[in-house]
Parts: sequence; C-alpha cells; structure tokens
Amino acid sequence: MPALTDLTLTQAIQALRKGNLSSQELTRAYLERIERLEPALHAFLTLVPERALAQAKAADRRLKAWRSSPSEPLPPLLGLPIAVKDVLCVKDMRCTCGSRILENFVPPFNATVVERLLQAGVVILGKTNTDEYAMGSSTENSAYGATRNPWNTEHVPGGSSGGSAASVAASLAPAALGTDTGGSVRQPASFCGVTGLKPTYGRVSRYGLVAYGSSLDTVGALGRTAEDVAALFVLMAGSDPRDATTLDLPVPKIDLGPSTSLTGLRVGVPDEYFITGIQPEVEGAVRHAVDVLASLGAMVQPVSLPHTEYALPVYYLIAPAEASANLARYDGVRYGPRLSGETMWDLFFNTRGEKFGAEVKRRIMLGTYALSAGYYDAYYGQAQKVRTLIKRDFDAVFEQVDMVAAPVAPSTAFRIGEHTGDPLSMYLEDVFTLPANLAGVPGLAFPVGFDRQGLPIGMQLMGPPFREEILFQSAHAYQQATDWHLRRPNL
Ligand code: GLN
Repeated sequence: MPALTDLTLTQAIQALRKGNLSSQELTRAYLERIERLEPALHAFLTLVPERALAQAKAADRRLKAWRSSPSEPLPPLLGLPIAVKDVLCVKDMRCTCGSRILENFVPPFNATVVERLLQAGVVILGKTNTDEYAMGSSTENSAYGATRNPWNTEHVPGGSSGGSAASVAASLAPAALGTDTGGSVRQPASFCGVTGLKPTYGRVSRYGLVAYGSSLDTVGALGRTAEDVAALFVLMAGSDPRDATTLDLPVPKIDLGPSTSLTGLRVGVPDEYFITGIQPEVEGAVRHAVDVLASLGAMVQPVSLPHTEYALPVYYLIAPAEASANLARYDGVRYGPRLSGETMWDLFFNTRGEKFGAEVKRRIMLGTYALSAGYYDAYYGQAQKVRTLIKRDFDAVFEQVDMVAAPVAPSTAFRIGEHTGDPLSMYLEDVFTLPANLAGVPGLAFPVGFDRQGLPIGMQLMGPPFREEILFQSAHAYQQATDWHLRRPNL
C-alpha cells in the first residue's frame, strides 16, 4: 500500500470500509505531515488537531459498528480528512478570510457546503490560507503571510485558494474546499498541479461563504483526481433554501468507471485563449492535451469567444463594485476588532483604515468609484452590458460543441514578489479564468504537463451551465490515459 498520505480519497474510502485503515491513523498521518511541512509552506491559517482526532475517533466507532452489521448505508465520506478555505464558515472554528479585520471571528454556524460534507462524514483538519477576502491571484495578499508553492517554495501557489491547492499538492490533505470568483480554484490548482472545479453559478450554495463578488462567487473543490473532486462535488451541490440563487435542479450521479472513451464529444478550442505573451510551454502542453482528448475519441474544432479580451476590464469593475458593497459591513461594530474614535465615523474610519490590507482598500475604492453617481452608467452599467455579450459568446459556442478546452493561466507559477508592486500585471494573470465566472459556466482545471523549471501546467475544460458531469468524464478519461496528476513534489 502507498504511504497513507498518498492515497486518493477514493482509495482511502475503500481502505476505511474494509478496515485496513482507521480514520484516526489517516488523520494522524496528515497531521504529522502538516507538522513537518507547514513551516516551509504556510498552507494553513488555523489547525485543529484535537478536534480532528475526536471526529476521526467518532468515525472509527461508526465504521466498526457498520462492519459488524452493515445494515444501514454509511455516510459516503465517513472518516476522510479535508481542509477548508478560510472564507467558509465552520462552526466554532476561527474564520479570518486572510484579514486582520476578522482576526478573531468565530462563526456560530456552518456554511451549507461544510454542513453537507460534515453530514457525509468528513473530518476537518483546519482552515487554509487565502488572499484577503479572496482578492488576489497568488495568496500573497493574506494578512498572515504568503503560502509557498510545494513544487518550488520561491514561487507562489496561485490564489486566492493557494492554501487549499498547496495543501493538496503537498499531501497535507487529500482534498480541500476552495472558492472561485474569478479563477481562485482553477488557477491555484493549475499552479500546484492538482485538479480543481469551479461549479456553475447557482449549483452550490454560497450560504456561509463570506461574500466577495456575490454574482460571481462559487464554492468549489480541489483534489488529486477528477474522481476525488467529483466525489465532493455531488455532495456539495444542490439547491439550498438559504441561498436564493441556487437552482432546484437534480444533481447528476457521476459514475466515472474505467471507460476512457470520449467518442462523440465535441471539444472547442477558442483562438482567443492562445494570445501573444502566453508562455510557449503552456500553449504546447495544452495543445498536446487536446490531442490526447482527440486520441480518446473527442472531435476537436476551433471556436471563437470574441469578447474574451473584455473579460478583464469587465471583471475588475463588477467584482470590486460588489465587493465595495459586501465589505461595508466590516465597520468595527459587528465583527472582529474595534479601534476607538471620537465619533462613530472615526471608529469606522480607524478600524477599516487599520485592519483592511492595501489590495482590499484598492478594490473598495475602485468599486465605490464605479458605482458612484455620474460614473455608474459609464463604468458599472457598461460593464454589465459587456458581461451579457461574454455570456452570449458561451451560449453560441455551446450550440456547436460540448465543452471548451483552454489554458488556465498564461504562465506557470510566478515568483513570490514578482507582481506585488504592480496590481495591473497581477490582474493580467486572470485573463483566462474570468470569463467563466462572468458567464456563470463551470470549469475544471487539471494538470497536463510541466515547464522547464519543473512547475506544473494546467488546462481547463469549460462546459454548459449545470453540465459538470461532462467535464468530470473528460478529465477522468484524460487522467486514465496520462500520469501528470500522479506526480508529487519532492518534499
Ligand atoms: N484573482 C481574482 C481577483 O483577484 C479572482 C479571485 C477569486 O477568484 N477569488 O479578484
């Protein structure tokens, strides 16, 4: 048997059920590895070893009872440890959003996704590092220090779910929850060589996710394989009375099995995603991966998403606009620390001025400006119109093909500090991930190669709304035929 921390979720489930492995052994193996590697990586903001071991112990009791009389079905993920991005509320566990303004916020409730996974039996190891309020592409905007890429600790893990991606890549957790507002699951998955899903907007509840850009925010998952991510997705998905934007559609059974045939599937390759400036090794690896899909039976054809170039300015108006409204609630009165002031306004000003980081303040200012009287139509209103055009591009393409294959980011993981002095150059890293959020469509990122420096390269498949199963089937077929997803950094 491979090392316990090398098991996929699917393998661990089987070992736990057979009694070859206990949840306490598995959880302890991850906690020990975290203790050894966390100082070099800083993937976590909060660790709860005692709580995790207590959960594992309870799971073992249930597994044991089930093995002696397997009458009732077991919760599907009973005893499996996972990590949770620190923007999702877990009851009685600190939730900082990577911000000083929520330094000691302890939510009294679970996010719906967390609740559903706890019902399914998972053990929570801790909360993972993130750019402050999920604003960023490198996890360098965390008020608690940057996370490092397990493949090369001089490089960023991507962001904002960089802690989750690094924890899976370094085998500190078999899987993790992340959120994707403009690429924050897919881009760190790509930079760290793991598989990550951004679901369709409305597929997974946002209740208990601390809001960034409410019309763009989605909760996704990261794991080693498409199969593992699918196992989490089917449990997370589904309508929720607490989130009125979730749709009441059946969640498909995703049966991946051993079949690797993609016969009949039509894959579109959009020209607009192969722009000048893209790292040649990224383009090469993605084009090669498309050839692999074709060799598995998929029919590949060029397609066009003509408004792609506008996604960046549109997103960087809409997301900050929504953020400026969502972050108005952090005033020093209702959550976290409070700085004093002579008047109420001074109190707000001092608390927000002191406790928000530079990037968050920049977004609040950008968003407030875009929404202000006199500029609203020119910026926010115009951005919404162009957003509709981007959405229509996808509608038109999905008349012709079943999914679109594209790079996740123009380059592999950049060096720590490379973009921190120039926010615009950081925003440019998001060009290929933003359109899916603006259009609300699902995207699945997974590793398709490495560059000369030994850093992972990712590809994303984007599909029609609520058709996540096509993406999982295709990525699974690809992973049956290749071994990029099995490579592990040397730690
Ligand atoms: N990098 C993008 C931003 O900074 C996306 C972040 C995200 O998806 N949370 O807004």
